[in-house]
Amino acid sequence: MRDDLLSTPLQFLKGVGPRKAADLARAGLLTVEDLLYRLPFRYEDRSKMQPIVSLRPGNKAAVLGEIKSCKLSITRRRGFKIFNAVIGDASGAIRCTWMNQAYLADILVPHQQVVIFGDVKLDSSGLHFMNPEYELVTDDLTGLHTGRVVPFYEKTGTVTPNMQRKLVRQALDELPAEIPDLLPADIRERLHLLPRRAANEATHFPPNDAAVDELNAFRTPAQRRMIFEEFFLYQVGHAWRRHATSADPKPFVLKVDDRIRSSAAKILPFKLTPGQRQALKEIVEDMLEPQPMHRLLQGDVGAGKTIVALLAAIVAMENGLQVAFMAPTEILASQHYGNIARLLSQSRFRVDLLTGSTPPLHKHTLYAHIERGTTNLIVGTHALVQESTTFHKLGLVVIDEQHRFGVAQRAALRGKGLRPDVLLMTATPIPRTLALTDYSELDVSKIPDLPPGRTPIRTWVKPESRRDEIYQLIRDQLDAGRQAYIIYPLVEGSEKIDLKSATEMADHLQAEIFPAYRVALLHGRMKQDAKDRVMSAFAAGQIHILVSTTVVEVGVDVANASVMVVEHAERFGLSQLHQLRGRVGRGQWESHCVLLYQSPWTDDARERLKALADSNDGFVIAERDLELRGPGDFFGTRQSGLPTLRTGDLVRDRDVMEDAHREARRIVEQGGLSGELLQFVLERWQQQFGLIEVG
Ligand code: ADP
Ligand code: MG
Repeated sequence: MRDDLLSTPLQFLKGVGPRKAADLARAGLLTVEDLLYRLPFRYEDRSKMQPIVSLRPGNKAAVLGEIKSCKLSITRRRGFKIFNAVIGDASGAIRCTWMNQAYLADILVPHQQVVIFGDVKLDSSGLHFMNPEYELVTDDLTGLHTGRVVPFYEKTGTVTPNMQRKLVRQALDELPAEIPDLLPADIRERLHLLPRRAANEATHFPPNDAAVDELNAFRTPAQRRMIFEEFFLYQVGHAWRRHATSADPKPFVLKVDDRIRSSAAKILPFKLTPGQRQALKEIVEDMLEPQPMHRLLQGDVGAGKTIVALLAAIVAMENGLQVAFMAPTEILASQHYGNIARLLSQSRFRVDLLTGSTPPLHKHTLYAHIERGTTNLIVGTHALVQESTTFHKLGLVVIDEQHRFGVAQRAALRGKGLRPDVLLMTATPIPRTLALTDYSELDVSKIPDLPPGRTPIRTWVKPESRRDEIYQLIRDQLDAGRQAYIIYPLVEGSEKIDLKSATEMADHLQAEIFPAYRVALLHGRMKQDAKDRVMSAFAAGQIHILVSTTVVEVGVDVANASVMVVEHAERFGLSQLHQLRGRVGRGQWESHCVLLYQSPWTDDARERLKALADSNDGFVIAERDLELRGPGDFFGTRQSGLPTLRTGDLVRDRDVMEDAHREARRIVEQGGLSGELLQFVLERWQQQFGLIEVG
């Protein structure tokens, strides 16, 4: 057939009429390529024919033999139709039984050569195959459904696995020996990847010596090549976009010398951890590049991201540039402002805070300072950059705890003609494979360690029936001067009930359980300033127990809180629970995280809570979360840039994505995107991966 066979509609395959083509189309199979890129989801080894005499009950087996006799009978009771055939080979004979498949009487006739595959059973009348797969042995078609390692396809609509198998075979037979390949030859050689044609063939019809376990784990060279191809094409699109959006150099050049190094060292109140040092090195190296930085700094709660960002800020300020430091809420902004102002109090840099509650008059003064450049570092909420703020010389934007927002923000900045370095920070560890998809255009730095001297958090998984013990634990902690959080889930669709239970709980705790202490309620329906008031009172120690339906503001830092109780923990996601746990363990005291669950709980819930009790490491937990939930659910209902994939699996094939990412960047950065690959990125990339524009 022609070169363009891959894009040929399936209707042009022999034996596919309009009716069947419509069925296939409904199953999403339009072209030959669609067919070839829907890989079998499992394989079965039917290649080794066993002598009939060697068959044992309880095993799956394939035999090749001749039909010796057949009989169709109808049971008296219930009218079952039973078709029996006796198959014989040189070593012996065995009975095959099919229930309610009377039509077989026309197909399986005496003297016919046949391959049988199925479970060998034993009953009072001896060994037999029950409802086995069969295939007639003829000259023109051997070993499609039996007698080989057989591919199984997910049933799609009216397209049965056997039908797909036949069509795939036919398509492959018509494919020319050489087909165009979007994978560049040098990558193929370096990574020892099979040619496309061979990989297409072997993923569907593996050679008989292929290891079935390896096939079912999707680890054979042919499968890996197909998956790599898909991931590579996906990553090439991202790499290209990243390259295209950062091609123009920044309007300023930064440098780092000993004077700047010692200026930064002077503000350091402690020694950086190795992880912090590595992250800082990556960030500063990026800032010295002529193109703007676009980097995500990941570190578990309490890993110490702020100081790393601040040191980067000093590099920018020492180079005469301004820094904007943005947080998602006013509380977090004031928290950052307090810390930063304290650390920079001995420096010559001026730090200001600008939020929604800054009085208008003061706001105007601040705008003027920002515009003139007398403010070196401005801390604020995310509105900071959106509003009409004009900067004198904006060099670095730090965005805390809202990376998705940050990606959009950067586009907004570019729209204003600003091209600062951008550093996004998140305490929600993103599994590597998702970072490579959703955030593929970012560079990622990671702080894998925690500063020394942290007191460990003890995690308790407890049934509802042990509530009294938990109250005792809380009471002991409050008596010792600590504070506690109690979190309620807020499930969509049942907000009212949940809100009611949280409100009642807060009243009950106040009136009956902890009358000597102050209990307050925080929920998502409250106005932002009311929320901020409650949070401030809690931070100031005026409230002892905070009952909350919302996930307590990410990043909130109340060192005196030492107990986190999560009600209905079975309803929360793993990463969410880890975030909640991160609200305690911030002071010098031992802290407790209690996960209260209500039975019956699902196996999934049990796994989640166990994973949490087993590890305190956010990265470990994020990977586990991804395995348990799958990539689609990992981000919850949030819009995400996950690609539609045909062959690869983001969880199973993480390592392939890693290779694809590296190779795609390499080829784009070497200026190697041209010809068909470039055309693919420009014309087909978005559609193939089902991507919607973000930001
Ligand atoms: P996060 O990464 O969650 O934003 P922070 O930057 O708020 O964490 O840091 C948490 C706490 O750890 C802060 O009180 C900070 O001063 C402290 N800290 C950060 N780095 C170190 C370090 N290397 N040694 C000791 N304490 C540190
Ligand atoms: Mg933080």
